[in-house]
Amino acid sequence: MDAIKHDIVDDRVIIGDGTDAQTWQDWQGLQQLPVFNIKTAFPEGRRVCILAPHPDDEILGCGGLVQQLVAQGNPILIIAVTNGAASHPDSTQYTSNDLNDLRPQETQAALHVLGVAEHVERIALNLPDGQVYQQQNSLYLALEHIIHDQDILVATFAQDGHPDHEGTGKIAEKFARDHGLLCYQVLIWAWHWAVPHDARIPWSRAQRLELSLTEQQKKRDAINCFKTQIEVDPTTLNPPILSTHAIERLCKAGEVYIC
Ligand SMILES: [Zn+2]
Repeated sequence: MDAIKHDIVDDRVIIGDGTDAQTWQDWQGLQQLPVFNIKTAFPEGRRVCILAPHPDDEILGCGGLVQQLVAQGNPILIIAVTNGAASHPDSTQYTSNDLNDLRPQETQAALHVLGVAEHVERIALNLPDGQVYQQQNSLYLALEHIIHDQDILVATFAQDGHPDHEGTGKIAEKFARDHGLLCYQVLIWAWHWAVPHDARIPWSRAQRLELSLTEQQKKRDAINCFKTQIEVDPTTLNPPILSTHAIERLCKAGEVYIC
């Protein structure tokens, strides 16, 4: 989940530290959201296709959901929209070729930590990182070959603030509408730029997934598998793409799905 500013999303800009974890945790409105009932949202046996713009979004957004769906027996397919190869421009520590290999490996390690690797399939579309918004037609066409009639889609929020996340969310939403499929959207970068009561989030359609302490801890451990995203790059001295602040915020806000 590469933090960049983009003119398409200029009222949902990802700069600075953003809203802090404690602010979200203290907001009663968040605690009072209806509980996301996965038994009814994901009927038995139905395949769940999670569209991740970058390798890590499937865990940052849905690390808890994936654990619960595997326990419930739903087949899961992760659709990696990009390989996240543009996360370290100018780095000699991680070239785009390195990242093209490393980031998908980090996803696989994270799935092992969650204990779900053998239950989750993954397919990589390899669209160019940072250009999903511009490549929405390609994404839609790719989905035509992958998605089946009874599949349920889970994607990043169509107004999440990162253009790749928004492009992915918009296409998932459109594809689901065109094909009569269920589609849920998860908040990731929205936790950064939004604030409690924020009118830019459709809270009336939002539901909160309840995670056990064990599920929360496994999710944290899984996030720590994304070494390329959580460490300072010694060759550019750029800070981690995924700061401890951002990780804390994602873990404390929990998983909220727009239904
Ligand atoms: Zn991302």
